[in-house]
Amino acid sequence: MSRGVYMHIPFCLSKCPYCDFASRPRRFSGEMEQYLSALLMEISQRAGGRADTVYFGGGTPSLCSAAQIKTLLDTLAHSLRLSPQAEITLEMNPATMVLSSLQAFRQAGINRLSVGVQSTSPRSSRLLGRSHTPVQARATIQKARRANFTNVSCDLIYGLPAQSLEEFQADLNTLLSWEPDQISLYALQLESWTPMAEQIRNKTIARPDDDLAAKMYAWARTVFLRKGFIQYELSSFSRPDKVCRHNLIYWSDDPYIGLGVAAHSYEQGVRTWNCSDIAEYMQKVMQYGKAQEGREALEGRERKTERLMVGLQLTSGVNKQKMRRQFGKDWKREFLKPFSEMKQAGLLEENSDYIRLTSRGMLLADVVFRAII
Ligand code: SF4
Repeated sequence: MSRGVYMHIPFCLSKCPYCDFASRPRRFSGEMEQYLSALLMEISQRAGGRADTVYFGGGTPSLCSAAQIKTLLDTLAHSLRLSPQAEITLEMNPATMVLSSLQAFRQAGINRLSVGVQSTSPRSSRLLGRSHTPVQARATIQKARRANFTNVSCDLIYGLPAQSLEEFQADLNTLLSWEPDQISLYALQLESWTPMAEQIRNKTIARPDDDLAAKMYAWARTVFLRKGFIQYELSSFSRPDKVCRHNLIYWSDDPYIGLGVAAHSYEQGVRTWNCSDIAEYMQKVMQYGKAQEGREALEGRERKTERLMVGLQLTSGVNKQKMRRQFGKDWKREFLKPFSEMKQAGLLEENSDYIRLTSRGMLLADVVFRAII
């Protein structure tokens, strides 16, 4: 079993119109420094045990300097046992990256980059409100290689308003030509309160077509597999030796500790989370050393359902032996009906070791999840 640490840096250059993450631009100079002081305090109060992976997410953690990231890592290593082989990822906005910064991040201990490319098409990048251009994204990946990063992942969004299959195909082919080690492929999902959802309601931009998005995903899967990538999770395609260990922790029921505003932690069915307001987070941590806002202990059927929903995200599926160990030999009883229906529909497959989504099931994962709930 591995254990991960997630650190949330909530600041961005600007707010993208589709984004529902806990992120926003800084409101005053010195806000980042103030936030990092609180984060350092939380690390020293809450971190303990060990960590096999560290993930700086956001927001845009690459707005921190390499010196700030190093201080966070040093404080973490002081507060827990950080594995010498730890995978340490930094999410990065290509708009801001120069070679010397990348070299400094590498020097500070970052050994994996997650680059928020999102699209290689100028039109889609503008629609998404990205603060970088595709040219900058490509240059960032090239500079990352020169800075000795051997593990570079890129995010790509599909199913955009008015995006044709051909446009998406060009988008993905361009990104593949930049030779990343992993691509995380996300369908555009909009919360109702985001500006882009409002634009769709106003008919200023077209409503994304779900059937077309499913075709894009199916096409992308075949291309990835042809190019030698493996799919280890519904959205993640990587070189065989570059599977993201931190991602696997989330999908394998392994424990993780979340530090920073809105960060979630998980251990043995108990989920806790921090408050999501930045000022409140800073004030609470400075006063009490923590800013926990909620706690949820999953038990019985709820816990089993959660394990199934999470485990089915992995292409290896849900490990039946693990489920038996955890919940007893009759763990499947409550799910026999949906399992049988989904297998008949060709969406689930099962053998003595695992139960998992079929290729068709990956396209219709929501149908399977709804049946299980
Ligand atoms: S850069 Fe990322 S986290 Fe920041 S607003 Fe855009 S999508 Fe959200």
